[in-house]
Amino acid sequence: METYRNFINGEWVESISSKTFENVNPANTDDCLGVVKLSTREEARRAVESAAEAFRSWRATPTPARGRIVARAARLMEDDKENLAQLLTREEGKTVSESRGELQRSINVAEFVAGESRRMTGETIPSELPSNFAYTVKQPHGVVAVVTPWNFPVAIPVWKLAPALVAGNTVVFKPATNTPATATRLVEIFAEAGVPAGVLNLVLGSGSDAGDEIVNHSAVRAISFTGSNGVGLKLYEQAARRGVRVQCEMGGKNPVVVLEDADLNLAVESTAQGAFGSTGQRCTATSRAVVVEQVADEFVSRVVERAKSLRLGDGMSAETDVGPIVDSSQFKSVLRYIDIGREDGAELVTGGEVADGAGLRKGFFIKPTVFDRVTPDMRIAREEIFGPVLSVLRVKDFDEALQVANDCEYGLSSSVFTNDAARIFRFVDEIETGMTHINSPTTGGEAHVPFGGIKATGIGDFEQGSTALDFYTELKVVYVDYTGRKREGNLY
Ligand code: NAP
Ligand code: MG
Repeated sequence: METYRNFINGEWVESISSKTFENVNPANTDDCLGVVKLSTREEARRAVESAAEAFRSWRATPTPARGRIVARAARLMEDDKENLAQLLTREEGKTVSESRGELQRSINVAEFVAGESRRMTGETIPSELPSNFAYTVKQPHGVVAVVTPWNFPVAIPVWKLAPALVAGNTVVFKPATNTPATATRLVEIFAEAGVPAGVLNLVLGSGSDAGDEIVNHSAVRAISFTGSNGVGLKLYEQAARRGVRVQCEMGGKNPVVVLEDADLNLAVESTAQGAFGSTGQRCTATSRAVVVEQVADEFVSRVVERAKSLRLGDGMSAETDVGPIVDSSQFKSVLRYIDIGREDGAELVTGGEVADGAGLRKGFFIKPTVFDRVTPDMRIAREEIFGPVLSVLRVKDFDEALQVANDCEYGLSSSVFTNDAARIFRFVDEIETGMTHINSPTTGGEAHVPFGGIKATGIGDFEQGSTALDFYTELKVVYVDYTGRKREGNLY
C-alpha cells in the first residue's frame, strides 16, 4: 500500500512520524488507498524554511514566466483529467461526473490565473507637481500557508496555489488529512510543470500539529484557509496577533427562496440539485428552502419525490446520483443533526436514515433527507450540517422570506425563484450573502468570477475572478521626480 510523502525543497520525503491515518474509500471501507504519516512539527518547520529560502529567486522570476508554469500545470491536469477524477471519487466519494466537473473547474482556474500573469498591472497616477508622477506595483508577501478542506480537494487547492505562485509567493500547502492522494497528485503536477525546488511544499499532517506549526511560523506572511468556522476563527486570531494577512472561507447555510409565482418544476429541480448534489457536502449546498405557504405543499411533495428517486451508490458507477458521506465522523455528525431535527419538532418527510441496501453496507450512505415545517429557531435551520439534508421553512410572503433567509449567521450563497423582476432586484439588494443566483441552484461558480462569502462565512478578500490575486499581493507605491531639482513647495 502507498505511503504518502511530503514534498519539501523539491524532494519527496517520507515523514519519520509513527502516527498514521488510513485513507479509506468512503463508498467501501475495505478499500484503503494508502497511509498518511502525520508529519512532525519539525518537518513542518523544514517545509516553511525551504519556502523562505526559495522566495528570493522566485520573486525575481518574471511574472509571465511564473504564469507559464501554471498554464503548463493546467495542461497536465487536462491530460490526466480522467485518472484524477477517478482518484478523487475513490478518495472523497463524490460521483465521477461531479469529480470531472471539479477537475474542469480546476483547469479553468489555472488557465485564467495563468492569463492574469500578463495583467498584474498597477496604476500610473499624475502628480500635482510638474515632472513628477506616481505608480503602483503589486508584490508578493513571501511564504504563504495554504490550508484546505476535503470537500473540493483539487479545486480549492488550485484556486489558492495558482494565484499564490503567479503572484510570486512561495507556498507551504497543508491539505485535509483525509484527502492526501489528490493533494499528492496535484503537487506532482505542479512540480512536473516546472515549479522550482522549495517554491511549493506539501506537508501531510494533522491540522492541530503540523498545520498549527505552519500557520504560526514567523516566516509565514499570509494564510489562505478554507474550512470550518471553528478552525478559521482560530487562525484569524493567531494571524492577527502576528499582524499577518489572512483569508478564511468558512461555513454556509445557503437558502433558496421560492415565491408563489415561481416555475415550481425549476425550483424543485434546482433545490434537489443544490441540496443533494455532491451529497450536500459543498460549501454552497442548498441547506434551507424558504417557501411561501401558498406553494409549500406542492413544493415539498415534489422535492420529496425527487429525493426518493435519487440512486445512492459508489460514485464510480455511472448509475449513481448521490455518493457517500466523506468519513465516519461526518457520517455521525449528519445523523446527529437528523436526530436534533426530530427532537426539535421538525417534520421528517423523507430519508432521515442510513441507506444500507445492497452495495451500500460498507460505505457511509445516508438517504437524502427533507424536514418540513422547520422554524427559524431550530438548530437544523441555523447550523451547517454538511450532508444531504434540506430544511423547509414556510413563510407567508416575500417580506418574511427575506427576513427568514437573512436570519442566519452565515452569508455564502443563496438563490431566488420568481419571475417578478422587481422582487428579483429587491432580493439581490437585500439578501445577505456574498453570492446569489437567480432562478438557478445556490451551487456553481465560474473561474473568472469572484467567489466568497460575507458575515460569518468570509474573512478577507474574495477568491478567483478579478479578485484572485488580491489576497496574494500587496501594493508598493512609487513616487518619481524627474525635475532633477529640490522639490518646490510641499506635498501633504
Ligand atoms: P476543517 O476541519 O476546518 O479543516 C480544514 C483544514 O484545516 C484541514 O486541512 C485541517 O486539517 C486544517 N486544520 C485544522 N485545525 C487546524 C489548526 N489548528 N491549524 C491549522 N490548520 C488546521 O474543515 P473540513 O471539515 O475539512 O471542511 C469542511 C468545512 O469547510 C465546512 O465548514 C465547509 O463549509 C467549509 N468549506 C467552506 C468553503 C467556502 O468557500 N466557504 C468551501 C469548502 C468548504 P485536518 O484535516 O488534519 O483536520
Ligand atoms: Mg478518504
